[in-house]
Amino acid sequence: MLCWVNPRIFYARITEGSILPHEIKMSISGLLYLLYIQYFCMTVAKKLPQDVNPQGVFACNELDLSEVQVYGFDYDYTLAHYKPTLEHLLYNLGRDILLEKYKYPAEILKLEYKPNFAVRGLHYDIEKGLLLKLDSFLQIQFGAVYRGLTPVSTEEVLKIYKNRIIPIAYVEGDTRAHKANRAKMVHLADLFSVPEMGLLCNVAEYFIRNHIDYHPEILFLDVKNSVQSCHPIMHKIVAQNVEEYIRPNPELKKYFQMLQHCNKKLFLVTNSPYHFVNAGMEMLVGLDWRDFFDVVIVNANKPKFFTEVSRPIRVFDKNANTHIWEKVTSLEKGIIYYEGTVKQLQDLTGWSGHQVLYFGDHPYTDLADVTLEHGWRTGAIINELTHEINTLNTQSFKENANWLQMLTQLIEDHQDYKDSEAVEVLGQWMAERDYLRNEIKAVFNAQFGSVFRTYHNPTYFSRRLFRFADIYTSNISNLLNYSTTHTFYPRRGVMPHEYGSYFV
Ligand SMILES: [Mg+2]
Repeated sequence: MLCWVNPRIFYARITEGSILPHEIKMSISGLLYLLYIQYFCMTVAKKLPQDVNPQGVFACNELDLSEVQVYGFDYDYTLAHYKPTLEHLLYNLGRDILLEKYKYPAEILKLEYKPNFAVRGLHYDIEKGLLLKLDSFLQIQFGAVYRGLTPVSTEEVLKIYKNRIIPIAYVEGDTRAHKANRAKMVHLADLFSVPEMGLLCNVAEYFIRNHIDYHPEILFLDVKNSVQSCHPIMHKIVAQNVEEYIRPNPELKKYFQMLQHCNKKLFLVTNSPYHFVNAGMEMLVGLDWRDFFDVVIVNANKPKFFTEVSRPIRVFDKNANTHIWEKVTSLEKGIIYYEGTVKQLQDLTGWSGHQVLYFGDHPYTDLADVTLEHGWRTGAIINELTHEINTLNTQSFKENANWLQMLTQLIEDHQDYKDSEAVEVLGQWMAERDYLRNEIKAVFNAQFGSVFRTYHNPTYFSRRLFRFADIYTSNISNLLNYSTTHTFYPRRGVMPHEYGSYFV
């Protein structure tokens, strides 16, 4: 009879091969059960990681702030963070336009906005009418595919796409010279697109339930046009009642004061109109907000502002609420500018390259071109980080994530047992792994999980974010906790071939 009082010694002898399974007078399922206990004990004994600071600034790339002389900012969701009331407002205004302009059925008026249904960074398949989450390998996250408000089963998803990996031309289009295939998917990387997705899914669900045939691309275009064309109305409503829509941020003024005190130049480049930005900034910073900025450009029309070369920059007359004809030969503090291009901004100010740090919330519109084409440094403001980090910090999440890792390791180490008893046990482990994976997904968002991860992989959204942002944080005023000479160092990430090395 074998003595295995100490499971650790027993386990060590099994794994080093000094005890072979056929020498053990116990069933294979008994042996696997012991191993399960062994791995579980190791997990429980493992110290849980420390909490992450939700106000932290995180580095993808080394950034020395002492090299930065000029700070640029986007406005919406970068300086101004909106309350959930804005999502409801955009949803309702978009829904009204669908009805009035595009003559959608009057019943859609009864459809209420469902906050927290969608997250940023999803893809909408305009051909198949599905809202889904992709990872950085263009793999579909099963369990995160919706038609309207209804989840689509994994079997159906595989039947539709024939594969779990989507071809890149389908997702991003094929722009090679001899081909001109349009992308069949739209990436919703903007926070303004969250209520847009809510409206799209509500209307699609209404059509499906009422057996009304619809074209997914027409629905997408109508919803997109409706929500985007209501922006001028939204601007007016928000400007008249900023407290109802914008979260106050008393730290913002202190941050601008700190930068000004350290002789940094500040500029604002926003796609929004002046009266809307002015109302928000007066509430956030005060009536003198313009004194902090050396250059203010409104209606910039990003990303064209960063990509076009021949669009003139113009002076905006805030009293007449229009731009005027005069040619701009210099950029002056206190004057509001309109449209233009980044080339003119750089030529007229001499600001360029790594001395400029630009903050935005949109990985493409705000950050991609400035870093790839102009060598500016970039900071992403990702409001969702607060919820994501608070979730990561819960004890139950940490325990589940640890056990998921160890259970996966247990399965990987013992997957080659082939007799029926072992296969059954391995099946139970796989089922527990699937359960855990869904548990730690749903705590972020019940439908789509984390903005940053699909199970173990980074999402399509986060891979692009990390490519275009040197640093990222949940709120611009978190930078107040760091001096203007601070250097942000990225973590030395673990590569797969380094896994298990003692020095990591
Ligand atoms: Mg923005």
